Amino acid sequence: MKNIVLFGPPGAGKGTQSTNIIEKYALIHLSTGDLLRAEKAAGTELGLKAKEFMEKGDLVPDSVVIGMIENKVKANPDANGFVFDGFPRTIAQAEALDQTLQENGLSISKMIALEVDDDELIKRLLERGKVSNRPDDQNEEIIANRIKVYNAETAPVADFYKKQDKFTSVKGIGSIDDIFESLCKVIDQL
Ligand code: ADP
Repeated sequence: MKNIVLFGPPGAGKGTQSTNIIEKYALIHLSTGDLLRAEKAAGTELGLKAKEFMEKGDLVPDSVVIGMIENKVKANPDANGFVFDGFPRTIAQAEALDQTLQENGLSISKMIALEVDDDELIKRLLERGKVSNRPDDQNEEIIANRIKVYNAETAPVADFYKKQDKFTSVKGIGSIDDIFESLCKVIDQL
């Protein structure tokens, strides 16, 4: 079982690399951002609630995302493992994830952080905004808020896994293939 938290700021490349990882290692991709956008697109009550937060670049309340992840873990008892992308984003989420995994006889193998500096992130997000149709990618103020929220609330989640000796990082700048190779070197050792 390989249960990986792919970590890093908005625009670090978590979504792109998650897609590569799940294909190579036959894991299940759990992206809270994708799940929330799907709820929003379907017009569910949860989606409508999440929309307000997402469009400002704020975090959706912990209880909402924790519930979504719990359901997905429970719904996939035969999985080879999971790649958590965009989750956990707060210490409370990290604690809840540990608990949920434990209840299902599982645990996190590793958190792998993609390291990218702020200037590169802003550039990438604005580029993505031109094609993604994501309202939160199209406005520099919202992007700046997402990075601020990341630094304040999400960056400390790395310490949570450092304390458990489960943290490592790779350089997130370079070609997609080179970054994937760095990630595979870590994952192959799990
Ligand atoms: P990015 O990492 O590029 O910001 P995501 O798709 O991961 O993109 O997230 C988009 C938005 O969805 C976030 O700005 C936030 O509002 C919401 N979101 C996603 N995951 C979480 C989470 N784990 N906790 C709270 N809010 C979340």
